[in-house]
Amino acid sequence: MIEKWYVGVDLGGTTIKMAFISDYGDLIKKWEIPTDISEKGKNITTDIAKSIDSVLEELGEKKSRLNGIGMGAPGFIDLSRGFIYHAVNIGWVNFPLKERLEMETGLPVVVDNDANLAAVGEMWRGAGDGAKDLLCITLGTGVGGGIVSNGKILHGTNGMAGEIGHITAIPEGGAPCNCGKTGCIETIASATGICRLAREGLEKYPDSILQKEQEKEDGITSKDVFDAADKKDELALYVLELVGYHLGFMIANLGNAINPGKIVFGGGVSKAGDKILQPVKQNFDKFALPRVKEGAEFAIASLGNDAGVYGGAWMAKKLHEETIL
Ligand code: ZN
Repeated sequence: MIEKWYVGVDLGGTTIKMAFISDYGDLIKKWEIPTDISEKGKNITTDIAKSIDSVLEELGEKKSRLNGIGMGAPGFIDLSRGFIYHAVNIGWVNFPLKERLEMETGLPVVVDNDANLAAVGEMWRGAGDGAKDLLCITLGTGVGGGIVSNGKILHGTNGMAGEIGHITAIPEGGAPCNCGKTGCIETIASATGICRLAREGLEKYPDSILQKEQEKEDGITSKDVFDAADKKDELALYVLELVGYHLGFMIANLGNAINPGKIVFGGGVSKAGDKILQPVKQNFDKFALPRVKEGAEFAIASLGNDAGVYGGAWMAKKLHEETIL
């Protein structure tokens, strides 16, 4: 029997990443196209469909090779209908993504939130290493998350499960967050949060080497903070300790609820490695139940920007398996 492939699609504000991935999770072909956000993103599904056809042709393959498409999109999604309520960076408002893409490609489509797809991608082929209970935390410009429980993405009653970036860390007087609340963990543990904490600490640490970084055109970056921590700068160390405390505390509480086998960290901030993970782990160990602590292994995401397309293919595979049963 001919081996079937799945299409993983990861939609971002500037590029659409796509891949053909086999039943076994082998990457057959990976490519990307620019995201056309003109006319409220109305050309995006056609662009994807055309691009799939042209890559199939390039590979000398027919569409019958493909069993379906799994697509990750940013924004608020009605998962059962694959309907996007609002995707700010793309321009979609009340956009029937699943319906349009199925019509344009003739293939079954499953749509999910991009952070959730990254989590299952890591579970399937990345640092999750097959762990069926997994917590994935993306520390980037914001803080994203995905929770996989017993091999399934946790969606919740209206798709909001896994929005761990907006768990409250500072109940009173916290910094404002993009979601409209204040004091979310995103305001502390994201790259933006780290820079803010460093800036706010400048007054208390007049000797910090970050003083002169502040004078640069782009101000203090999270990389500056990590570099300064390497040089044992007191302000930088204080910031990382604070981030580690809040993140470790939050993950321990989540851990007590979901008892994960793996806790996977992705995103730009996670590239700082042990500098950030060490204080997180210390606080996790302090606040998690002993058996929760024993069961949980910390890991750095290994698929990088490919996690979304792997996750998309995995979702398409699951959809196909459910349909043929
Ligand atoms: Zn928030």
